Amino acid sequence: MTVRNCGVMGMESAALMNVLNLVKTYGEVRAVDGVSFSVPRAEVFTLLGPNGAGKTTTLEILEGIRGADSGEIEVFGRKLRRVDRATKERMGVLLQEGNFEPYLKVREVLRLFASFFRSPRSPDEVLRQIALEEKATSLVKTLSGGQKQRLAIGVALINDPELVFLDEPTTGLDPQARRNIWSIVSGLTAAGKTIILTTHYMDEAEALSQTVAIMDHGRVIARGTPRELTSGLGQETIIEFFAGERAAGATDALAGSCRGVRNEGGLVSIETDDLVATLRRLLDWSREAGVPVADMVVRQPNLEDVFLSLTGRRLRE
Ligand code: ATP
Repeated sequence: MTVRNCGVMGMESAALMNVLNLVKTYGEVRAVDGVSFSVPRAEVFTLLGPNGAGKTTTLEILEGIRGADSGEIEVFGRKLRRVDRATKERMGVLLQEGNFEPYLKVREVLRLFASFFRSPRSPDEVLRQIALEEKATSLVKTLSGGQKQRLAIGVALINDPELVFLDEPTTGLDPQARRNIWSIVSGLTAAGKTIILTTHYMDEAEALSQTVAIMDHGRVIARGTPRELTSGLGQETIIEFFAGERAAGATDALAGSCRGVRNEGGLVSIETDDLVATLRRLLDWSREAGVPVADMVVRQPNLEDVFLSLTGRRLRE
């Protein structure tokens, strides 16, 4: 697996944040089990992993909401045992469950949060950034899920933070609402902000991040650009098709002539270094067995395949 050098504390000047050997246990559970990484300035750095991987706990420690059992954090050029108030003022946080008073108006919510800071941004400027100007005088309870999430991002931006934490910003949203949020996030890095994002959607990690750290069971198991991570799988190509109840026949016929083949509920997934030879063999099997290969897709590996090859599991099982 291609892994980018994680950087040593204080050694990587381009990094806005360095995290070294963070540990947090809850009783027997090592929720965060020796996590280290560097977050480059003005980039989206993503923690990608399945539910329970330890992403939220890591973020909560970096946001100063939770203390770690051990480990070091260096942010804005200062080493800290625990994130303090002065540091928090330079950060913006989107929490996983952001519930606002339903009978407040959208601009009122932003004004309220602005009042907590010494030099906040103007609520109207933030409304423009999150594309909610038309909803400025609407009640929170009338907003759609995507609009509520945009408002929550607006609240995270009201203090003009240099570093913004977005914990699973698009979970549960429809594709259009997700894309709206992706466009806000891309705009933030273009304006020089640094983003730390968590997600269990591999397409979100691929679309937004310059650097991805894949987490599982409290550990970072791989780190790099999305391209570095997927190219670590070599010259591999993935062929997928649906064979229903006949899928087991396909896996038997192809095993041995490719790098790997899986049957998940009738969906056959083949990894190969020799696309032409594998396709030929697959089509021979299809003809001889009389099984059509429905909905066949040939594609390059994605971050889900990286996770699968590292853990034998899918991100969302
Ligand atoms: P999700 O995507 O579901 O939020 P995650 O990757 O963010 O998952 P965490 O929420 O950090 O993972 O949880 C990591 C582990 O720590 C899980 O096993 C979880 O059950 C456990 N855990 C988290 N918070 C607590 C807590 N307050 N008390 C006890 N165990 C906890």
